[in-house]
Amino acid sequence: MKFNSLVIHGGIDGDKYTGSVNVPIYQTSTYSQEEVGKHKGYEYSRTGNPTREAVEKLIADLENGYRGFAFSSGMAAISSVMMLFKSGDHIIFSDDVYGGTFRVIDKIFKNFGLEYDFVDTSDIKNIQKNIKNNTRAIYIESPTNPLMKVTDIEEVSKIAKEKDLLLVVDNTFMTPYLQKPIELGADIVLHSATKYLGGHSDLVAGLVVVNSEELGNKIHFIQNSVGSVLGPFDSWLLIRGIKTLSIRMDKHCENAYKIVNWLKNQDWVKKVYYPSFVDSMNKKAKNQMKKYGGMISFEVKNKEYLKKLLSNLEVITLAESLGGIESLISVPSKMTHASIPSKKREELGISDTLVRLSVGIEDIEDIISDLDILKK
Ligand SMILES: *Cc1c(COP(=O)(O)O)cnc(C)c1O
Repeated sequence: MKFNSLVIHGGIDGDKYTGSVNVPIYQTSTYSQEEVGKHKGYEYSRTGNPTREAVEKLIADLENGYRGFAFSSGMAAISSVMMLFKSGDHIIFSDDVYGGTFRVIDKIFKNFGLEYDFVDTSDIKNIQKNIKNNTRAIYIESPTNPLMKVTDIEEVSKIAKEKDLLLVVDNTFMTPYLQKPIELGADIVLHSATKYLGGHSDLVAGLVVVNSEELGNKIHFIQNSVGSVLGPFDSWLLIRGIKTLSIRMDKHCENAYKIVNWLKNQDWVKKVYYPSFVDSMNKKAKNQMKKYGGMISFEVKNKEYLKKLLSNLEVITLAESLGGIESLISVPSKMTHASIPSKKREELGISDTLVRLSVGIEDIEDIISDLDILKK
């Protein structure tokens, strides 16, 4: 099946008992057993639930992986993957990963003895330089949030295989419609399904896909032991969202492309960040994306323009999060990335006048009208 069919019919298609075209919401915690240990494959819903299993199988199909897992949030998914490691292990991270990822590593996993370096992974040399004897994994986001740095996943996977490291990719920004990290050599793909996969800003969820049975068994053991699973209703809602992933992403990309080109010609805009503007070093990596996504960041020339912009919004909502059908705008330094110390933020280039726009699927004229702060 090709991708546009897979989003609708992948995983578990409908319900074999009733013919329901949608997977039912199995709102149950436990399952009857005929005899001790004799059951229909389900014992307790932390271990397995048919609705959750449907979304888990679906994301595994979409990412072309071996097995998928659904968690109560993106952070629960990321934390569960981190539990593959132990005290004294070292991991190399992209330096402008999602703020919550930085926080959970730097404030929580550090206390359990996890060692780490945050480096600019868009330059492969920075990865090679930081590999130590105790390095166990490379964890990247591409493109990154909010500065849209692009890392060549295939190149990194070669280094990972050579040094026997796991390659973990947070694919939230791209979704499997635009980028398939496992096909490029990644071992584990992560999602905040709260964003594009859910797509409607109505649920919080996380997904993990692994490329092997061994990793599948390990992640299932962690998921069942730690227990941050996605409930049946939210699993169903996520399946519903994923069905329209392709057409939503096409529209997000189309609108984003028009806005980027409009922003580039505005006097009050200092710099526009979008993955299609990657520097020559990463030209090849551009091809790992089918299109460049719906996320744009831009720096305005001063705080007055920022104020003016935020007070000019009718269609666009000032809010955290991204990936929904509605356009959302945020100021990373004060919102999503506030947990990164200001000095570190400055180093990374996340200035106080940097704006992040999650381009929705509204009419482009209405979105641009909100952005057009100098119009008469
Ligand atoms: C939002 C986000 C997360 C965290 O996911 P939650 O669902 O909010 O827990 C992780 N990575 C990226 C890239 C995100 O945008």
